[in-house]
Amino acid sequence: MSELIVNAAVCEICGGKLVLRDENNFECESCGANYPKEWVRAKVQEIKGTVAVDNSSSVENLLTRAKVFFDQGDVGKAKKYVERILDIDANHTATLLLIKKMDLDFAFSLIFDGQAEGWNRLPIENVRQQVYES
Ligand SMILES: [Zn+2]
Repeated sequence: MSELIVNAAVCEICGGKLVLRDENNFECESCGANYPKEWVRAKVQEIKGTVAVDNSSSVENLLTRAKVFFDQGDVGKAKKYVERILDIDANHTATLLLIKKMDLDFAFSLIFDGQAEGWNRLPIENVRQQVYES
């Protein structure tokens, strides 16, 4: 249970921070209202559920934006969105595929244009390895 999420459960009376008073009770730091541990636990579960739902919808939005920029050839902007997705979910499959696609495009642009910009590249051997081993 992360501190951030515990902090999201606040006093219903004054919105103050809840601190552990004893084994079974939390207490509001500001007004002193008492909350049983079970109430806080249920509240945290509720908040965690909301956070999970919000994350998945924002990942899909970010991926859509990344793809639009990539299709327009603006790899720099696409990369920013890709990084925001990876901050939320480092193993997001569709995003990892998009990164491979970007790296492939970059490898080809190196061959055909002699240069490319906007994307912090893997070494070319690394790109080849990813392409041929997947
Ligand atoms: Zn309070």
